[in-house]
Amino acid sequence: MTAQTSAEAPTTPTLIGHVVGGARTAGSGTRRQDVLDPATGQVTGQVVLADQADVAAVVAGAVEAALPWSQTPLGRRAAVMFAFREQLVARTPELAATITAEHGKVLSDAAGEIGRGLEVVEFACGIPQLLKGEYSDQVASDVDVFSYREPLGVVAGITPFNFPAMVPLWMAPMAIATGNAFILKPSERDPSASLLIAQMWHDAGLSDGVFSVLQGDRVAVDGLLTHPDVDAVSFVGSTPIAQHVHATATAHRKRVQALGGAKNHAVVLADADLDLAATHLTAAAFGAAGERCMAVSVVLVADEVADALLDRLRTAALAVRVAPGTDPASDMGPVITRAAQQRIEEIVTEAVDAGARALVDGRGHTVAGYEGGFFVGPTVLDGVTTDMRAYAEEIFGPVLVVVRVSGLAEAVEVVNANPYGNGTALFTASGEAARTFQRSVHVGMIGINVPIPVPVGWHSFGGWKDSLFGESHVYGPEAVKFYTRGKVVTSRWPRAAAASFHFGRTTAS
Ligand code: NAD
Repeated sequence: MTAQTSAEAPTTPTLIGHVVGGARTAGSGTRRQDVLDPATGQVTGQVVLADQADVAAVVAGAVEAALPWSQTPLGRRAAVMFAFREQLVARTPELAATITAEHGKVLSDAAGEIGRGLEVVEFACGIPQLLKGEYSDQVASDVDVFSYREPLGVVAGITPFNFPAMVPLWMAPMAIATGNAFILKPSERDPSASLLIAQMWHDAGLSDGVFSVLQGDRVAVDGLLTHPDVDAVSFVGSTPIAQHVHATATAHRKRVQALGGAKNHAVVLADADLDLAATHLTAAAFGAAGERCMAVSVVLVADEVADALLDRLRTAALAVRVAPGTDPASDMGPVITRAAQQRIEEIVTEAVDAGARALVDGRGHTVAGYEGGFFVGPTVLDGVTTDMRAYAEEIFGPVLVVVRVSGLAEAVEVVNANPYGNGTALFTASGEAARTFQRSVHVGMIGINVPIPVPVGWHSFGGWKDSLFGESHVYGPEAVKFYTRGKVVTSRWPRAAAASFHFGRTTAS
């Protein structure tokens, strides 16, 4: 193991390893996976894939760190959060460059995801206030009752490729501020951001072992899900893996929150401002190449304004500049892998073959000088029916599917018939329609003339139905409860009274 030293810029790492007990290590696992730059298709590094011994080592390091950290005074914990915030602000450009190099999103969007993570850190800075318990004085003669919350111990976060900084930052600040040791298992496709974040925690003064990184694939995940010393699991990723994580962790008696995939519908009513809707829908569908769990992927548009909206969407989609994320003029970078690019194009082809019309067709898109990159151009499909794969599956690419509906009532029916329930948006000028919509849809996060309603860091984030398994949403107030368990103390400091054998309402004594 080598000691974790000052800032290293992992933009072109050769070997991307774990962080165990505060030290970087390649561990004992011998499997490796290539990490690529999606803009060029070139291999830029190799990530180590954990074996069972690596899982055991990282959990042992976290267990050792958890107890002293849980006993660390609240003010000191808050001070580490403030210092981590400073690290994150100062090193945003470095972290954004690391994200873009492996994920491919444009630099401004990478900085944007760090900004959304920063909100959670800022919420966690208020941990002394958030952990204040409740006190009932004199519930009976000389008897007081107070309740408060204690950390769980060791908690794990398993995160997806599409937000290599934001999603870990949804979890780690809250888990750590509440007094736990946190193990991050990042996506093996863009793992380097995790090492820079670990360095920032170190430089913020966090004790070794309180934030650890375990690189790997299914072996690492299943090792964490079944390890007896892991007390809780936060997962964000696709629905099939979320179900696996929820079922396995629950069977091993862990607390678990598992956020899954999405198919987010935006509804455009006849009274909507169509220019505003088209501008926002274009950004929401094609930003980050559609690789956002809250991306708008379906537009349900009222028949009478459908053609007018489609005209605007077509113009806006054609104006999207597709180029590597490092190009300051780029609106949209590549998708994550060659396999993702091929799958997205295949779904579009199937829809077109089944009768959909590609108003804008991003298949076969190339960028001069980056012919090896995994680019897909913005695609707008009209005339899609709900039985087509383009509607039924989460595409996770820059494809906007348009379905025409008669009005609000049919739109609500379509939204509610969909198995996912992450986000949805309504574009309208009617407060009455907005209120009906927000109260009728079976979806966790709703935008009214706001296309991507990701809650700010002091609310909590979570979908319904196949978008979340478990009861608890991530970050915000729900995270304080998720990462802690309650204790209630009933105490008597008697004035030489006799003990009572009566068990009942305490008002009589
Ligand atoms: P993914 O499910 O393939 O991977 C997520 C994590 O699970 C990774 O760390 C990966 O290593 C691990 N994993 C993959 N296969 C596994 C297996 N068989 N067993 C155990 N672990 C496994 O997801 P992804 O492709 O990285 O991310 C995209 C998905 O994440 C999309 O479906 C997207 O909607 C979803 N997502 C959801 C949210 C949300 O808030 N609901 C946020 C971001 C992403």
